[in-house]
Parts: sequence; C-alpha cells; structure tokens
Amino acid sequence: MTILFVSDLHLHASRPAVTDCFLRFLADSASQAEALYILGDLFESWIGDDAPGPTGVQVSAALRRLTDRGVQCHFMRGNRDFLISGRFAAESGINLLADEAVIDLYGERALLMHGDTLCTDDHAYQRYRRIVHWPITQALYLALPVGTRKRIEARLRSKSMEAYSNKPAMLMDVNQQAVAAIMEHHGVSLLIHGHTHRPAIHQLATAQGEAATRIVLGDWYEQGSVLRWTRSGPALKPIPLH
Ligand code: MN
Repeated sequence: MTILFVSDLHLHASRPAVTDCFLRFLADSASQAEALYILGDLFESWIGDDAPGPTGVQVSAALRRLTDRGVQCHFMRGNRDFLISGRFAAESGINLLADEAVIDLYGERALLMHGDTLCTDDHAYQRYRRIVHWPITQALYLALPVGTRKRIEARLRSKSMEAYSNKPAMLMDVNQQAVAAIMEHHGVSLLIHGHTHRPAIHQLATAQGEAATRIVLGDWYEQGSVLRWTRSGPALKPIPLH
C-alpha cells in the first residue's frame, strides 16, 4: 500500500502543462494509492469556492473521480489557497484537514503542515497571515463581487512577488526553533511540510536528543514532485512534466 504527499503545485491557467501533469498523476499513480495528502498551495490563488475558475473546476472533477474510486484524499490549506472551504470539499470529495494534523503513517505519528507558519523570521508575512485569517476579514472579502475579489487578489499577489524578490533567502526558510517547538508540542519525531520549495529529507534531533526527521515536499514548476510512502519507507521523487 502506498500513501502519497504533494504540495505547492500552484496550479494556474498560465501553466497548463503543470495542470495536465497533475491530472495524469491523479489518474494513474494516485488512483493506485491508498491515500493522497495535498499539503497546501494546490492552486496559485483561490478567491472563494463560488468562483473556482476553469482550472479549479477541472481539478475538482478529477479529484472527484479519484475519491469516487475510494482513494482517500486529504487537503490542507496553503497560504495561496487558504480560502478553500466546505463547498469545494463537498464537490471534490476531499477531506479538509486543520493547519496542523497528526496522522498514523504505518505506526509512526507524523505531523503534517503546509509550512508557512514555520517561517517565523518573516515577521511581515506572519502579520499579513494573521489578518487574512481573521474570520471577519474573510467574511468581508467573500461578500465582495467576484471581479473585485480578483482585483484585490492580483494586487496582493504582485505585492507579495515584489516583497519576495527583496527578502533574504534565510527569511524564506523555516525557523529551526519553530520546527523543534511544534514537533515537541505534538510529541512527534516526523514532520512533513511544503511551502519552502526546498525538497529534502532532513535528519535532526528533538529537544530530548532523539532522532527526528523533517521531510520537505517539492514544488511543481520545472517538474512535479511527490513523496511516496510505502511499508519500506519514504521516497521523494520528481515527476517529469511531459
Ligand atoms: Mn506556500
């Protein structure tokens, strides 16, 4: 049996090869698996479940085909698609996870996160995140007409790209104390997350000096990326786009 993990696909109409690659992945690898975990940033942007756009509609239908076959599909929101909610989940058949979820992975407890909350050195981002996660902010935003929401989203996205290009690389990575603290809080020695686009399997030590593992999933830009977990353990592999 196989459990698959992906994140940071950033699906968008401007990159149809990536969407096609993901649809193929859902139809073949994922349909043979026991479960698929999508750990955030499936979409480059999400302005509400009532306005999924053509890519959102296509992906929702493909996820539905997968979940109808009996493959469990779990989804955690990322910093790009944090507005994905109950309607999208009901239509696609996915199970929405909280921002921190502990699962049983062949007898080992694994903590799943998107990863943005681990980048605690980026104070400007954490401040922005708090504001956009207030229920009142989301309710006000979702009450706006679709065109207005699109304009606001486009402006925030160009601002974030501008900020990104000016930020030192270290700010964009996880903070090691934050990693240690969250793993200790959940009592786990295995953490799987995405967000940083720095795929790797890191061996580290817990505060108690025990061996621990942090697995970072890769993004889907030049290629796809999947973490495949079988009884024999994890394998982090690229997927060619063509
Ligand atoms: Mn992200």
